[in-house]
This record gives sequence, C-alpha cells and structure tokens, in this order.
Amino acid sequence: MSQSTPSLDAFARSKLNALEARNRRRRLAQSDNRPAMQVERDGQQLTNFCSNDYLGLSHHPEVIEAAQRAAQQYGAGAGASRLVTGGYGLLFELERRLAAFKGTEDSIVFGSGYLANLAITPALAGPDDLILIDELAHACLYAGAQLSGALTHRFAHNDLAMLRELLDTHRSAARNTLILTDGVFSMDGDLAPLPDMVALAQEYDAWLLVDDAHGLGVIGDGRGTAHHFNPPATAPLQMGTLSKAIGGYGGYLCASHQVCELLRSRARPLVFTTALPPASTAAALKALELIETGEIDTARPVELAKRFCAALDLPAPETPIVPVVLGSERNALDASQLLQANGFLVTAIRPPTVPVGTSRLRITFSATHRESDIDRLGQILLPLLERREAAE
Ligand SMILES: *Cc1c(COP(=O)(O)O)cnc(C)c1O
Repeated sequence: MSQSTPSLDAFARSKLNALEARNRRRRLAQSDNRPAMQVERDGQQLTNFCSNDYLGLSHHPEVIEAAQRAAQQYGAGAGASRLVTGGYGLLFELERRLAAFKGTEDSIVFGSGYLANLAITPALAGPDDLILIDELAHACLYAGAQLSGALTHRFAHNDLAMLRELLDTHRSAARNTLILTDGVFSMDGDLAPLPDMVALAQEYDAWLLVDDAHGLGVIGDGRGTAHHFNPPATAPLQMGTLSKAIGGYGGYLCASHQVCELLRSRARPLVFTTALPPASTAAALKALELIETGEIDTARPVELAKRFCAALDLPAPETPIVPVVLGSERNALDASQLLQANGFLVTAIRPPTVPVGTSRLRITFSATHRESDIDRLGQILLPLLERREAAE
C-alpha cells in the first residue's frame, strides 16, 4: 500500500489549483508520432505543426537502421559515465564529425541540450564573473547562469545598444564575462544579430555562447546560425542539440580544443551522468551524414514556412518557426483546440515559456509536410488573424 503524506499532497493540490485558475496548468498528452508529421493523439490522427523534427529525420529509415545496429552491437545503454567506461567509440566519432561540420577545433557531446547548458556556463564562470543574457534566451541558458553563481543581467531582446551599456557599466569589475543568447529564438523564430554581437563581445573581451538548438540542420546550409551570415559569425562557444533537426537525442558544444578539454574535466553534467545511449549517438551520426552529403534538403523547412507566411500576409520568416501571438492563455488554448478539431496539432505556448500576455501558437514547418496541408492550415488560421488585426 502506498503511504499518503497529507501535507505534501495538499501542497501539490493547492499549487495545481492556482495554475488551473490562471489557465497555466499543463497536462501530458499521449502523442504517438508516425512518419510524415502524422501524430496520433486522443485516438485522433493529426498533422503535427509544432514538432522540432524539422527534417523528418526521426523517422528516416537509414537513421532508424543505424540506431538499431548500434543497439545490437553496443547495447541499449552506455552503462557508465564517459570518464568511467561509457566512452564507446561512436561518441568520439560523433564529436569529430560535429567539430568538422561546424568548423571548430573540437566538440563535446552531452546527454541533452539542456544538460549542455547546465554544463558549459558553470564550468566557465563563477561568483567573480559577469553574465549578460538576452531576455528571451532559452530557460536552460538561464539555468546555467544561475548555477554558476555569476552576477547576471538581462538585456532587452536583440538590443545591442543595451548590451554595450551593460558592458560599459559592469565589465571592468568582473573577472570574466559571458554573453548568452539563442542563435534562433525558440519561441519567436528570429535570429540574434550575430555579426555585430561577435564584434561587440570581442571589443570587451567577453565570451559569447550561442545556443543554436533551432539553427543546426535548417539555417546556413544546415551548419547553423553562424553560417547564415557571410562571412560566418562564429562565436567561440556554440552549443546545440541533436534532438531537433537532427531527429534523435543529445546535446553538444563546439569550441576550441582547450575549452573542450576543460569541460571534460570540470563539467558536472558530463562527469556525473551516464553517457548517451549508443543508438542515439549512431542516429545522430547518420543524420549528420545525410545532411552533409546533401541527401537531405536543409532549405526545405524555411521554404515551406515562407509559403505559409506569404499566404497569410505575415512577414517573411528566416527560420521554420512562425509565432502567431494571440495574447491571453485562453486565446491560445482556444485556437489550438480549433486547429485540433480540424486535424492539426499546434500546442498552445503559454507563460512561463513566453512572457505574460504573449501566449501564442508556435507553428513549425518540417521538410516532410505536404504543401496541401500547409495551405489548409493557413485557411483555417486566416479568420483568426483577421480578428486579431481588427482587435489591434
Ligand atoms: C530545445 C532547446 C534546448 C534543449 O535541448 P534538448 O536537447 O531538448 O534538451 C536548448 N536550447 C534551446 C534554445 C532549445 O530550444
């Protein structure tokens, strides 16, 4: 018999009630993914327009086969951390491949993108240091900053003038300074102004960490946000995930050899956690190979996003992420429900994932979407957008 702890359950219940009252309670729904962005939810077959599987690689037959083969050969799990006996050869191969693809000296693979950010900033900064972070940066960049204990200031989204002011005011008192930003902002789909940011960071001897979770595989010929620019805007610390366009699971940092070596000794989410399962490593290797050899068209998701935006008179997007901001939590939930009734899955995004009053649909495009589905999605959203405009 399980034991009940009344004070604990009462605590959980009152927290849940408060969330419910603000339309912020979240529920885990069973979503069984199938190829071509089809997903089964509540017994209903839906077309998924909120996945980060931008290239459909999670269901690519060669990627699946590579994962199967690795599990057969090396087992279902790594069995230990990298520093003990979890360091199977495929991991080293994946790190060499990532570094070559991104054009850096070295790279390290982590258990996930979230873990990578819990690893990187605390290994490089402490209480004597300064962190400047874009207000819309991903939650795990904030978590890394917090864990480091460094003095942290936010700058307004993509506001380089404010970033310069903060550097002018605080840089000299700090030992080292890190600047943290997303390359592609996950909930807005816009890009950081990397060329000017790289230059500004250099001017103040600050270290720029770019989180390119949504850049790899879809921007800059698949090489990520840095390569969207000409010449490439290369930050010394480029992290990302293998869980989005790459279609599998895992995170990485691409950086200099010295920095990667330091993290191998000091990054707690590398030292004290089990290595990535062989199947995930092999899947990522195969996915990168398909991207590098040009077998996968990395430009396709953005092309499809552009088609959608053109039909709805929205600004042309630079990434496959198109936000439709609807304001209140209720509005976003209602719109999501309307889409589900029409065969589309687009989850409502609410605070604290986005700022209060900016609840939205976050529509993402994948290379495996059918154009006819995109056009129909647009038709359903059109009246909603017109109503939004009339309300403004
Ligand atoms: C998804 C995401 C992460 C986390 O990556 P996971 O591999 O899913 O843990 C980190 N940063 C950004 C910007 C993301 O969107």
